[in-house]
Amino acid sequence: SPLANGADDRLLDRREAVVAGVQEHYYASPPRIERGWREYLADVEGRVYLDMVNNVASVGHAHPRIAEALTRQSRLLNTNSRFQYAAITRYGERLAETLPDELDTVFFVNSGSEAVDLAIRLALAATGRRDVVAMAEAYHGWTYASDAVSTSIADNPDALQTRPDWVHTVEAANAYRGRHRGPDAAAYAPEAAERLRALAAGGHAPAAFLSETFYGNAGGVQLPDGYLREVYATVRDLGGLAIADEVQVGFGRLGSWFWGFQQQGVVPDIVAVAKSIGAGFPLGAVITRREIADRYRTQGYFFSSTGGSPLSSVVGLTVLDVIQEEGLQENARVVGAHLKRRLEALVSRHPLVGTVHGQGLYLGLEFVRDSTTLEPAREETAAICDRLLELGVIMQPTGDHQNVLKIKPPLCLSQDSADYFVDMLERVLETGW
Ligand code: PMP
Repeated sequence: SPLANGADDRLLDRREAVVAGVQEHYYASPPRIERGWREYLADVEGRVYLDMVNNVASVGHAHPRIAEALTRQSRLLNTNSRFQYAAITRYGERLAETLPDELDTVFFVNSGSEAVDLAIRLALAATGRRDVVAMAEAYHGWTYASDAVSTSIADNPDALQTRPDWVHTVEAANAYRGRHRGPDAAAYAPEAAERLRALAAGGHAPAAFLSETFYGNAGGVQLPDGYLREVYATVRDLGGLAIADEVQVGFGRLGSWFWGFQQQGVVPDIVAVAKSIGAGFPLGAVITRREIADRYRTQGYFFSSTGGSPLSSVVGLTVLDVIQEEGLQENARVVGAHLKRRLEALVSRHPLVGTVHGQGLYLGLEFVRDSTTLEPAREETAAICDRLLELGVIMQPTGDHQNVLKIKPPLCLSQDSADYFVDMLERVLETGW
């Protein structure tokens, strides 16, 4: 079978025997993938798949320039950031250059969870407070603090009920299926602001408001116009800070904006980044203002053994070079717009297709059983993803109801690949799943 587990069928059993079961793998019967190139993955039987989910491999799989930079630097030097070498300075400067002037100070870590955790700790240290307000339906990471502010029920149905008492939520500002829809979605911002003020009045003035700036985890949902402007202004009025989780949506993926917060016309106080900045190498960073960074001193010193190492910094610099020199943000804008147009054409042709969320190469196609009740088509979405695998496309569900296709391929996606994806999706919708 083309979906066999490669020459060594026992590999999957051995994986399940040794790797913790909660560290899941895609598909009940996954192909064994040992090779990637651009937006393609190849299994050990030589079958090629179009990878439509890999936002971590931002510049494409097995990019030769990243491979060369890694090899060269690892033959020269790799050590921790307490030593003095050029790469950490150059990378810090280049990262800060992608952000508004006031965000001028960088902490280097190794993952998105670490970046969000550190962002929260910075806000606590800078304000001397302990409460944090996060948007519901989020995923921000697995460490204690980043998990605490993650309330997606996709994996944990009790997520909202089991948060520590310092975590508070505001509703997901989803104009498609939330409590306020269409033009009524303007109501989310004043309600969130009111919630922040009520918390402060009750003795829980927030250290920070934290959210994705473009709602990736919900399926690439664009926040209502002016939402972050009002919420950020309110949290700052109350003496708190605005934290942006740009781990998924930032770094050029949205096409028209390098950062998600630019779409909302705001500047956060603290930005957490990871995933695509390392193109598969474990990199994360927190960028903030100097006076906020300095408040970390109240917690002691900051040290991460591999955060900002020569190797990490050189990989980060090379990823930025590749994104800029290969015009990958522009590619995300152009190919993303073409892909979105083609997906939108499916809405009127197939009742299951409810809507298309997103911008650039962060799109979400939401499946519903009924266009009025918006009943999530969860089982159908899972079956469609399985059928797409048979047709050579890697695709996975996302969102609280697991009924949204999360479309976030490498940024080098070609228009032909985008067309192949939509053609296969249409075939599944027409012929069944
Ligand atoms: N924030 C967001 C928005 C994420 O999507 C993720 C990972 N899915 C994280 C944080 C955590 O990143 P990591 O897996 O690198 O720890």
